[in-house]
Amino acid sequence: MERFETEVAGTRLVLVQGDITKQEVEAIVNAANPDLTPGGGVSGAIHRAGGPLVTEAAARIRQERGRLPTGEAVLTPGGNLPAKFVIHTVGPVWQGGAKGEPALLAKAYRSCLILAVEKGLRTIAFPSISTGAYGYPVDQAAEVALRTVRDFLRENPGKLQEVRFVLFSVPDFQAYRAAWERVKGL
Ligand code: ADP
Repeated sequence: MERFETEVAGTRLVLVQGDITKQEVEAIVNAANPDLTPGGGVSGAIHRAGGPLVTEAAARIRQERGRLPTGEAVLTPGGNLPAKFVIHTVGPVWQGGAKGEPALLAKAYRSCLILAVEKGLRTIAFPSISTGAYGYPVDQAAEVALRTVRDFLRENPGKLQEVRFVLFSVPDFQAYRAAWERVKGL
């Protein structure tokens, strides 16, 4: 299994190849759509594994608050998942890169981290937000994701025990691993 571990300001930062629905962390992040419906990709997998508790809680939030704007995040129970909670966030759809995509992707990661800390959660796992159906090039998305997490951890030392990126494919793992080498020293 592909795995890499480092440390940022007292928090463990882990990159691993695998399935996010299997992760034993307090919260996993869902790359949701604005309607918070199951859909396909990682969201379909999370709703399937979590069961009706996840899907119904998400539907209730949708009903109460309307569509979730890109970059924002909400929390539901994890249902049948090993994770206690799911944090649903909406990443940007790639439109060529000049439509504010990097800032919106950074905002999505940051919103999840802020919500986790607010709720007192100590371990969180992310998928590669926006790099599936939403078409964000993985090398660029990985750099934004890792830079955003690194900055957040430096600004909030000791608040989180572990931030884990769960990459579904080996090439995606390698993209994140390479991006970390570009980002870590900055
Ligand atoms: P988006 O619409 O934000 O692009 P997708 O779900 O289409 O979201 O894809 C995001 C990433 O999640 C892709 O890299 C995809 O391969 C990955 N993915 C799909 N299923 C899983 C899973 N079970 N665990 C982790 N990552 C997954």
